[in-house]
Amino acid sequence: MVRYVYAFAEGGREQADLLGGKGANLAEMTRLGLPVPPGFVVTTEACRAFLSTGGEPPGLSREISDHLAALERAAGRRLGQRDDPLLVSVRSGARHSMPGMMETILDVGLNDDSVLGLAKSAGDERFAQDSYRRLVQMFGCTVMGVDGALFEQALEDLKRDVGAADDLGLNAVDLAGLVETYKELIRRETGESFPQSPAEQLQRAVLAVFQSWNVERARLYRRREHIPDDLGTAVTVQTMVFGNLGPDSGSGVAFTRDPATGRSGVYGDYLANAQGEDVVSGIRNTVPLDELARIAPEAYEQLRRNMETLEAHYRDLCDIEFTVERGRLWMLQTRVGKRTAEAAFTIASALADEGLVSADEALDRVHGDQLARLMFPRFDASAVREPLAHGVPASPGAAVGAAVFDSAEAVRRGEAGEKVVLVREETTPDDLPGMVAAQAILTSRGGKTSHAAVVARGMGTVCVCGAEEITVDTRRRRFTVGGTVVEEGTVISVDGSAGAVYPGAVPLVDSAVVRYFETGERPDPLVDAVARAMKHADGVRRLGVRANADTPEDAARARRFGAEGIGLCRTEHMFLGDRRRLVEAMILADDDAERDRALEALLPLQRQDFSGILDAMDGLPVTIRLLDPPLHEFLPDRMELAVRVATAEAQGGAPDEHDVRLLDAVNRMHEENPMLGLRGVRLGLVAPGLVAMQVRAVAEAVVERRRAGGDPRAEIMVPLIDTVEELRLVREEVDRVLADVSAEAGMPVDCPVGTMIELPRAALTAGLIAEEAEFFSFGTNDLTQTTWGFSRDDVEAAFFSAYLDKGVFTVSPFETIDRKGVGRLVEIAVREGRAARPGLHMGVCGEHGGDPESVHFFHTVGLDYVSCSPFRVPVARLEAGRAAL
Ligand code: PEP
Ligand code: MG
Repeated sequence: MVRYVYAFAEGGREQADLLGGKGANLAEMTRLGLPVPPGFVVTTEACRAFLSTGGEPPGLSREISDHLAALERAAGRRLGQRDDPLLVSVRSGARHSMPGMMETILDVGLNDDSVLGLAKSAGDERFAQDSYRRLVQMFGCTVMGVDGALFEQALEDLKRDVGAADDLGLNAVDLAGLVETYKELIRRETGESFPQSPAEQLQRAVLAVFQSWNVERARLYRRREHIPDDLGTAVTVQTMVFGNLGPDSGSGVAFTRDPATGRSGVYGDYLANAQGEDVVSGIRNTVPLDELARIAPEAYEQLRRNMETLEAHYRDLCDIEFTVERGRLWMLQTRVGKRTAEAAFTIASALADEGLVSADEALDRVHGDQLARLMFPRFDASAVREPLAHGVPASPGAAVGAAVFDSAEAVRRGEAGEKVVLVREETTPDDLPGMVAAQAILTSRGGKTSHAAVVARGMGTVCVCGAEEITVDTRRRRFTVGGTVVEEGTVISVDGSAGAVYPGAVPLVDSAVVRYFETGERPDPLVDAVARAMKHADGVRRLGVRANADTPEDAARARRFGAEGIGLCRTEHMFLGDRRRLVEAMILADDDAERDRALEALLPLQRQDFSGILDAMDGLPVTIRLLDPPLHEFLPDRMELAVRVATAEAQGGAPDEHDVRLLDAVNRMHEENPMLGLRGVRLGLVAPGLVAMQVRAVAEAVVERRRAGGDPRAEIMVPLIDTVEELRLVREEVDRVLADVSAEAGMPVDCPVGTMIELPRAALTAGLIAEEAEFFSFGTNDLTQTTWGFSRDDVEAAFFSAYLDKGVFTVSPFETIDRKGVGRLVEIAVREGRAARPGLHMGVCGEHGGDPESVHFFHTVGLDYVSCSPFRVPVARLEAGRAAL
């Protein structure tokens, strides 16, 4: 029989799949003996069962009743009893943290009777009525589906009627009246009464939290964070404690280290006389945690001790939610805290220094995406002007964009390709689409733990929050600061590391981390931490890391970034600009002599290209790929040409003879599906002299570099092979040219000749292809294109967003390798290739070579190296190290 409910005392942190992150960690804190209000967890399994059948899983309500009874026995109070009632909170808590995305219902157990009991036990009638009206409101919206705006309106009407400026101006009688108004509202909207039975409230609240797994904003968040849709959420049912019982009560959030910078020291926000939700929502501005030492010294000391216990136990940054009820501390939540990229590296390095984690673990705590984020540019300090406003540096980085004042506008402009900064008083989960679309988020209220800050950090979006000097006027779509008015559409610059907002577009400069890769300078602890992680990664990784580069400058930069060679030197860019003319001449040639002249003119230029790159990568392998794209890409646009010729004819004159020849060639070479047409090796086999010219250029460049005292290591790579026959034919020509150049130069020029594996047929016949190939390089861009039948140039715009929405996949297969399909072809090719030719050297040079998740896959299948763009080289090195742990 499946079990759906676990008491806190029965679980532990290793059960996050089943109990959700929140539930598992509450169980862990309970086990550690920390002061956790007792409770129990309904499992994710129950949620999945509920979501798949639409009905309550059999036995669930019985289990909940049993656990509730146990809770009541231990507390000596019953849920919603008349006097001093036990009340519970019902919260969502999935495996992965999804801050504010799902529902929470507090004060479950209150009804017309128990509200009086609560008033008595708390000695505060207003507080009891306010709690009751919050429950009716939350339950009405979340469980009974009443539009939340109706409750807000009723509250506004009441305030107006009694002349109250805010909620605090409402007394107990007003609030009791509001409860009645709310109940009436529910009856009117649903035809049903607000349930008075505490047990019914609890059962229904649990199911409503399950249901909230599928609300739109939660789905959107999951898509963005690549969290699978089928995990479901657990539900935590916990005894209520109150932070809003007067000045010696309050709620707060604490971090064992600064989650923005990683600096050590206790850090957090506290709000007196408030419930937890008030702290996170940023409704009122919080005070720094230190203030708690003054307000409730004992609770503060205990919190500090608990934080030490937790950090030592989890051996990582912990974030904590707590409540102080009349001077007594309660721990409501902990988890290994989210952090910025900067903090991740700094903390990992510090924990290793403190002996809490090993060097391997420290490396495992950082991620290639975080490193990539640290390599983004920052504002140029010398160009920074007087800030418009200051706020809390909530999520680091620098961004420039047009100010917009609501989520929809951010989305609209974002889709039109504009960079925007979303400016809000505070954000709510409903702002998520706009937050995703924005380059930066700016709020006038809330601290580092406000919704805006937490979400922005999670997404790596720049954020400044709590910029109190600014007044946001959403209705008039502008904000004011001092005498300055910033209208919608005005460009501003936001520095999430310094917490500053500037007028206009501040120029950006390279990051200190990039400078470190360039120069080896280590000016601060962050760069130091990055350097340490890189060193360890390089020490443990098995995969080599090369770069895709086709200029000496890129090659040199890649080398400074740690590339151990070039895995893909594309030659097509070498045929552009002035050289187009020569390519045209080659294509238009009427006879061999004319074509040879064009090729001969190209030869020294190509030799020079290769020589420069071989020089920049001296001593390291440089894989040069023969020309890949269809030749007509080098000819003028067909339509333009046709119009030119037709216009000349219409004007009665003779069209330019060259144009006519060109048009003829373009028409002849036109293909409906050029990506599946005359390109890659096919071109080499059909266009006479092209392969020979390129190979000669490589071989002569090798000779030239050797004569200059260099150590050139060129490799020749044939693209888009389908069958070994193609490779055999090309090789004959390659070998002949290499032999010719060797003889001419009087030295052996023996470049290894290999092939790309980028078509399914090639992968499936890799064993045969390996007979002719000295190395393989997986072209996973084309392999993905041809395996899925997705045009790599069109699909992302055409329908990927719909596919992501529908959950066909959670990430584009062009970004992260599709292990099950494309990955399987890679595995087959690796296995069969090596079986045919033991020790066959293999790498990957598609975009996936720089994608963290894919790097782990390539490590696992046993490739020798990955090759990626120069800027991704450090990321690939780091991830190759992490993959080897
Ligand atoms: C590939 O197909 O993965 C590849 C590296 O080649 P290109 O992107 O140039 O087609
Ligand atoms: Mg390709």
